[in-house]
Amino acid sequence: MRKKIVAGNWKMNKTFEEGLKLASEVVNMVKDEVKSDAGIVLCPPFIELHAVSKLVEGSKVALGAQNCHSKASGAFTGEVSVEMLKSVGAGYVILGHSERREYFNESNQFLAEKVNISLQNGLTPIFCCGETLSQREKGIHLDFVKSQLTESLFHLSESDFLKVVIAYEPIWAIGTGVTATTAQAQEMHAIIRDHIKSKYGAKVADATTILYGGSCKPDNAKELFACPDVDGGLIGGASLKARDFVDIVKSF
Ligand code: PEP
Repeated sequence: MRKKIVAGNWKMNKTFEEGLKLASEVVNMVKDEVKSDAGIVLCPPFIELHAVSKLVEGSKVALGAQNCHSKASGAFTGEVSVEMLKSVGAGYVILGHSERREYFNESNQFLAEKVNISLQNGLTPIFCCGETLSQREKGIHLDFVKSQLTESLFHLSESDFLKVVIAYEPIWAIGTGVTATTAQAQEMHAIIRDHIKSKYGAKVADATTILYGGSCKPDNAKELFACPDVDGGLIGGASLKARDFVDIVKSF
C-alpha cells in the first residue's frame, strides 16, 4: 500500500502570528478528528518553519518547505539551503511548483539539481508537474508532463526515486476554482504511473505516491481521492483555513 498524503502549500500567505494560529488549529483538529494514518504536511513560508516545527512536534503533522536552493551553501543572497531546512525540522520540500517555474524560470534541469540535494540531505521532495491549458487543448499535455518527470527525476537510482512524492497540478486548475474532473485527474495519474513503470518497473510505480493539486476543496476531495491512482492532494487556497484543510485530510 502506498502512502496517502495531504500537504498544505500556504504560498506567500500568513504573517508569523497568523501562521502559528493556523498551525495550532490544524494540529488540534487533527488530534481530535483524524483517525487515518495519512501523511499530513504543512508547508508554511520559511520564516514560520521553526516555530511551526515546535507546534507539530509529537503530532501526526509533518513540516515541509516551499522551496530550497540547489547548492549546499555559499554566496546566494536571500536563498535557503536544504541543511538549513533540516535544521528547523522540515522533512519535505515542494519543488517545481508551477509558480516557481513561471516566475523564477526554474527549468527541469535546475529542478533535477534541487531534487538531488534534497535527497542527499534526507528531505522528501514533493515534485510538481503539470500542463498549461493551451498544452492540454493542443493535446500535448501527456507528453509534456512525462518530459517533466524524465528530465528532473529519471536520472535517480531506484532507491532514491522511491523517496520522491509527485504532485500533478494542472496549471489551469491552480487557484482558479476550476478543478480537474476525476476522469482528467485519473487519466494523467495513470499515465504518470505508467511512465514511472516504463523506467523503474511495476513495483516502484505501484509504490509511488502521486498527489493531485488544483482547486482541491472539501467538497471535491473525496471523489478525487477515490480515483485509483490519486494518493492525496497538494492543497493551496483551502489549506489556509484549518477547517477546510482538515476536512480534506478526512476525505480518504
Ligand atoms: C497549489 O498551488 O499547489 C494549489 C494546488 O493551489 P490551489 O489549491 O489554490 O489551486
